Amino acid sequence: MPSTRYVLPEGEIPTHWYNVAADLDSPPPPPLNPGTGAPIGPDELAPIFPMALIGQEVSTERWVPIPDEVRDAYRLWRPTPLHRAHRLEADLGTSCRIFYKYEGVSPAGSHKPNTAVPQAFYNREEGVTRIATETGAGQWGSSLALSCQLFGLECKVYMVRASFDAKPYRKTMIATWGGECVASPSPDTNAGRAILEQMPDTPGSLGIAISEAVEDAATRDDTKYSLGSVLNHVLLHQTVIGQEAKAQLAAADAEPDVVVGCVGGGSNFAGIAFPFVADIAAGRSIRLVAAEPAACPTLTRGHYGYDFGDTAKLAPLLPMHTLGHGFVPAGIHSGGLRYHGMAPLVSHMVHTGLVEARAYHQRECFAEGVRFARSEGIIPAPEPTHALRAVREEVERAAQEGVDRTILVNLCGHGNFDMSAYEDYLAGTMVDYELPEAELEVAAAELAELPTIGA
Ligand SMILES: *Cc1c(COP(=O)(O)O)cnc(C)c1O
Repeated sequence: MPSTRYVLPEGEIPTHWYNVAADLDSPPPPPLNPGTGAPIGPDELAPIFPMALIGQEVSTERWVPIPDEVRDAYRLWRPTPLHRAHRLEADLGTSCRIFYKYEGVSPAGSHKPNTAVPQAFYNREEGVTRIATETGAGQWGSSLALSCQLFGLECKVYMVRASFDAKPYRKTMIATWGGECVASPSPDTNAGRAILEQMPDTPGSLGIAISEAVEDAATRDDTKYSLGSVLNHVLLHQTVIGQEAKAQLAAADAEPDVVVGCVGGGSNFAGIAFPFVADIAAGRSIRLVAAEPAACPTLTRGHYGYDFGDTAKLAPLLPMHTLGHGFVPAGIHSGGLRYHGMAPLVSHMVHTGLVEARAYHQRECFAEGVRFARSEGIIPAPEPTHALRAVREEVERAAQEGVDRTILVNLCGHGNFDMSAYEDYLAGTMVDYELPEAELEVAAAELAELPTIGA
């Protein structure tokens, strides 16, 4: 068997993050103030984010230097390996070359610490001593708790109730790394109390948990808020993934024809795909494919316009594909892919045709997850099984067209804490769920009241 693993030396952790805004023909529209509808200024964001991150949010510089202390912390698990998936290729019976970048080697088991670490660092630099955040499946909350621990900060995590009850291990990881985790909606905030009064048995949602964490940060001097996806600076931090993958592919004497990632808020996809936008801008032909769940089809069926980032309408209005800020997801297993909106940068790139979006049902995705576990050994998190499903589609398409392609996919996390989902799949009790058209119509009516893009 030829070599399968391309490992970079520690010294080759990227020195800069890549800012895709520098290579886009047009920038995405600006975020708007939720009260006035006017473009939001840095001063308005200052109560909830440190200035360094606000600066990165609006930066158009192509390269943003990574501070030494952040690179030191990255060294705990970076560079991450790139694998040639020889056994998966054999199982699929394809002569396409498939490479996967494995982000599950981080302490938290996913790509999320790539941004949690710099966010904790910049907060500490500006004298913040406590960070509040939300988490869905718990991957973000655990990554931020780890990063706060590394930089000596307190961490408060509002965890969506459904996951709080169903995923006790992530909660324990947060506590082990010194964070405090409460079920959301919680009695600790006005937003949480208001929702509990109306709907005491609600399973919660990311939109609700964001409202709680933003309120926590806005009402305490020692605390700022942190978001694990969606925003420009988060996507920026994730570009270490694609930059490393490029260097590793060069060592394998390969260049990708297709780059694939799953999308929830868009950050791991951006991390692997954005660095290739520079090559596309230079004339290379590379397709960028984003895979999402059919149960939360933000990019493939959502409305493209301004929407609130959260349920209580405290967060800025963002220009994005959205299912509506009132969206409460069905109980699907890919916890990390259930946000109602999408990163404005990814939405803009889908809108302009630079990124292709596809939606898949969870059973066909888990089938690819099990295939991957049985061929390559790693049990993928439920989220990247969507990317693996898209890889399968690419392989079939290449066969039909009679060509061999090189496919790069982001295996953004392992599924070792997702055994109940695999158990359901293997037992045949997992069901598919298609978002009913009626729910989209409800959202469309709400969104019609909000500013439109390009107006
Ligand atoms: C959080 C998470 C996601 C979804 O978030 P993105 O910002 O779209 O990357 C996907 N996969 C894993 C493993 C996650 O932890």
